[in-house]
Amino acid sequence: MSENHLPESARCDVLIAGGGVAGIAAALAAARQGAKVMLIEKQCLLGGLATSGLVTIYLPLCDGRGYQLSWGIADELLRLSILHGWQTRYPRAWLEGGTREEKAEHRFEVQFNPVFFALEAEKLLQENGVAVCYDTLICGVETEGNRLTGVIVENESGRSAVRCAAAVDCTGTARLLYACGEKTAVLDAGNTVAGWYYSTGSDGLQLHMVGYAEVPGANPQQDGARFREIGAEEVNRFLYLSHQSTLAHSLKLREKDGVSEPVTMTGMAQFRMIRRLDGEGLIRYEDDGKPTRESVGMIANWRKAGPRYEVPYSCLYGKTENLYAAGRCVNSDEKMWDLIRVIPCCAVTGEAAGIAAAMTAASGPRAPLAALQERLRRAGQRLHFTEIESA
Ligand SMILES: Cc1cc2nc3c(=O)[nH]c(=O)nc-3n(C[C@H](O)[C@H](O)[C@H](O)COP(=O)(O)OP(=O)(O)OC[C@H]3O[C@@H](n4cnc5c(N)ncnc54)[C@H](O)[C@@H]3O)c2cc1C
Repeated sequence: MSENHLPESARCDVLIAGGGVAGIAAALAAARQGAKVMLIEKQCLLGGLATSGLVTIYLPLCDGRGYQLSWGIADELLRLSILHGWQTRYPRAWLEGGTREEKAEHRFEVQFNPVFFALEAEKLLQENGVAVCYDTLICGVETEGNRLTGVIVENESGRSAVRCAAAVDCTGTARLLYACGEKTAVLDAGNTVAGWYYSTGSDGLQLHMVGYAEVPGANPQQDGARFREIGAEEVNRFLYLSHQSTLAHSLKLREKDGVSEPVTMTGMAQFRMIRRLDGEGLIRYEDDGKPTRESVGMIANWRKAGPRYEVPYSCLYGKTENLYAAGRCVNSDEKMWDLIRVIPCCAVTGEAAGIAAAMTAASGPRAPLAALQERLRRAGQRLHFTEIESA
């Protein structure tokens, strides 16, 4: 059958491409606006890097000075991730009520169990009426002029089209945006190899962060193993290096204590930054502390205390009028990419993009800013620095 005559397997108001943290937040936000939402995920669980990638540290919602910046679904998902207990990093002052001085001593971040988080997220989406479609790869788009009309999917039922009125690209790789012809960028500095895994042993269950922390340009000696463009060949090479690092690390551990053994390892290639939108309305590293009229939420700098950012609406879209970006593929400069890609920020951009997509599905192109901001506020998000002190 030719691509032009693919059967239509489903139709929805809002299509969420990818079920990582951004996709979970976008789907939830859109469904709460009354949209018929379908989330398409190529793996068999939700959470993306945060669960199958074993990146189980929900980085801070706060600025490190005792003020919470990210609210709404970012806050809700952090609490959901530790509903059945936490692994480390329990910020008592934030979760049990502390003074601002106490809150300033510890950042509002947690380490969670990835299985509980994936299962609870699935339950939450089901309860909110989101249709989750697992084991389904999005492998193309259908467009008409400047609009995305649907995606081509492949799963055990074969190849088909899923049609939508609006969509959010939460693939982490800007897959839809790229396929729609949007301008995108890759990480100039390249990604270093990582291979996080859990072991059990004399110290109980331990998360091991094998690999280097990604500081663009900071480790020139690793240039031989840096990955920029991520084609099939690079993914396989990256995975081989990642797996061998995990093996070497776990054998060393076992040699040391005689009992340690790996229990699970990342099920995703741990590239931090692959491809992002590269348009005009970007968020920049230098925007620290600068208010913007078009803010759709606030985020912190997880690397250091102090900086605060208002996220502009325009970093969530390009030229395709009913398509939004969320998570690690939004529009930022390279330095800011390293900050906005982390879990709490993915939830913030996911919530804003999800509501905007629901509005677009209901009443046409690009959700108007003021109405979007109004809905975000009603959903519990805070948008401007001026709203921080009153929290
Ligand atoms: C090594 C490493 C360490 C990190 N450390 C931290 C940390 O300590 N704390 C923190 O907060 N953040 C950390 N991060 C960043 C953070 O984990 C991710 O950037 C964030 O989880 C990304 O969320 P996302 O929803 O944008 O994308 P992803 O989690 O990548 O989700 C995208 C989803 O889309 C699906 N998908 C992709 N393409 C398709 C397709 N074609 N069809 C169907 N489905 C598709 C994927 O399977 C995936 O589930 C780290 C990242 C890495 C790699």
